[in-house]
Amino acid sequence: MMPSQVKGYAAHSSESDLVPYSFERRDLRADDVEIEILYCGICHTDIHHVRGDWGPEEYPMVPGHEIIGRVLKVGEGVTKFIVGQSVGVGCLVDSCRECGSCEHHQEQYCDEFVPTYGSRDRHDGTLTFGGYSDKIVVSERFVLSIPENLNLAGAAPLLCAGITMYSPLKRWNISAGKKVAVIGLGGLGHMGIKLAKAMGAEVTLFSRSKGKEEDAYRLGADHVVISSSESQMLSVKSSFDLIIDTVPYNHDVNPYLKTLAPDGALVLVGFFGALEPTVQTAALIARGKTLTGSLIGGLEETQQMLDFCGEHNVTADIEMLDIKDINLAYERLLKSDVKYRFVVDMNSIK
Ligand code: NAP
Ligand code: ZN
Ligand code: ZN
Repeated sequence: MMPSQVKGYAAHSSESDLVPYSFERRDLRADDVEIEILYCGICHTDIHHVRGDWGPEEYPMVPGHEIIGRVLKVGEGVTKFIVGQSVGVGCLVDSCRECGSCEHHQEQYCDEFVPTYGSRDRHDGTLTFGGYSDKIVVSERFVLSIPENLNLAGAAPLLCAGITMYSPLKRWNISAGKKVAVIGLGGLGHMGIKLAKAMGAEVTLFSRSKGKEEDAYRLGADHVVISSSESQMLSVKSSFDLIIDTVPYNHDVNPYLKTLAPDGALVLVGFFGALEPTVQTAALIARGKTLTGSLIGGLEETQQMLDFCGEHNVTADIEMLDIKDINLAYERLLKSDVKYRFVVDMNSIK
């Protein structure tokens, strides 16, 4: 077998737009699956990485970690997948496979986990390139199977936005009778509402934006609280068992901590950095509240999430676009002008 020629879109620096970029995918190893990419979601994380928001990055960078495609070829040792099957790839393509995190199916917390793009392959040291491209080669351990009934384009955002919200919902045993709130109605937030609702919870959206209420109710929210309104914030004091905070930038979490019920937890998934103003510990100590964080989910949990979405017919609300419009989509996403996830139709790259 020969390495595959691939067409993609790459950023060449933190200041540059994404432009067409051709490269090679590796020849298949025994456990590899070669996938024709059909759709790739655009996550806010792609923009953080392209623009170097979280520190130095390696370029050229081909972003994209919400990948849906069909199996084109399998290596001789592959047992889980067959040619033609619908599959997905999320935020990671390898890990050490033997540390405690890997053994406990939490590969995302492995010190050596290999992100889908902007990282280095553990065997040959080459740069990893993500889903804004027409093919990808990934070890079968990091490939997910997609339930047949799901719309494939709508399923793409499940691979990151979906699992990022599902994992804390599961960790806090969300089910009927529990009260869940989601902060921010974007790509992650809208999946959080859908998933929490499908688990039977009573769901509240915290939003800065007046005007998203109608959509929030349609997506499954029972209540909407405008976070800039003191009276609305007071009306939900000591209410929630779980709050998942998707806001990408620094913000004051203290008003949200007040809305947790005793023993409740606020899980940060959006902002990487130093929170300001300072977090007041009184509410944490006096009411046993938890302030914590969460990163995507392991492979086993991601498959459980996809199967759950298959059973409950949960997919993202998407706006489909051609790859040539990717830079425009980034500008719109930065203005929260998307309902509620962009997905690239990868046929447009051919
Ligand atoms: P998104 O689609 O841009 O949604 C973010 C939402 O946050 C917006 O729709 C907006 O909702 C709210 N928001 C935006 N700017 C804000 C501001 N300045 N102050 C307050 N609220 C603001 O982004 P996304 O793709 O959902 O990603 C959200 C964050 O999660 C990003 O930082 C991303 O990198 C991170 N992420 C983390 C993980 C993980 O594993 N932990 C996985 C994926 C993404 P309203 O208009 O309703 O307020
Ligand atoms: Zn993501
Ligand atoms: Zn490991």
